[in-house]
Amino acid sequence: MADIQTNFLAWLRDAHAMEEQAVTMLTAQAQRLESYPELRARIGQHATETESQIRRLETVLARYDAGSSLLKDAARKVMASAQAFGGMFAGDEVIKGAQMGYVFENLEISSYVTLIAAARELDDMEAVDVFESILVEEQDMADWLVDNLPAVTQAFLARDAADVHAQR
Ligand code: MG
Ligand code: FE
Repeated sequence: MADIQTNFLAWLRDAHAMEEQAVTMLTAQAQRLESYPELRARIGQHATETESQIRRLETVLARYDAGSSLLKDAARKVMASAQAFGGMFAGDEVIKGAQMGYVFENLEISSYVTLIAAARELDDMEAVDVFESILVEEQDMADWLVDNLPAVTQAFLARDAADVHAQR
């Protein structure tokens, strides 16, 4: 059994590790998207947002003196699942990447919804404000990805069909 603050801090460290991994994935993804400038720009923007999210989470962690040595363990845990992500990329990596990006943003959304509820239990409204500011960015990114998936799909299909003709 653990008290509210212990659970809260565990989830906060998980979120911090999740965002560290998000920066790595978003940066790697953007580098492979030279043929999809809009998607690349939006992913680059979100990588920058994510770096800021990490700093915001660290302001909350610092208030609880929940220090850096514990962060590294959590980061390692998330690393394995993120590497599985990377291994999934195939010829249609832009489509798989956009789909997985949408899944990842929704994982983030659910993490911040949980953290907001826990922070309310602790009456930590400063933390609630931090998590809500991040939640908006995750929701915007999830919405953008799903709204733009039809256009990305059309662009991929056109390029893939052009490739087929070029080979003939
Ligand atoms: Mg994030
Ligand atoms: Fe995100």
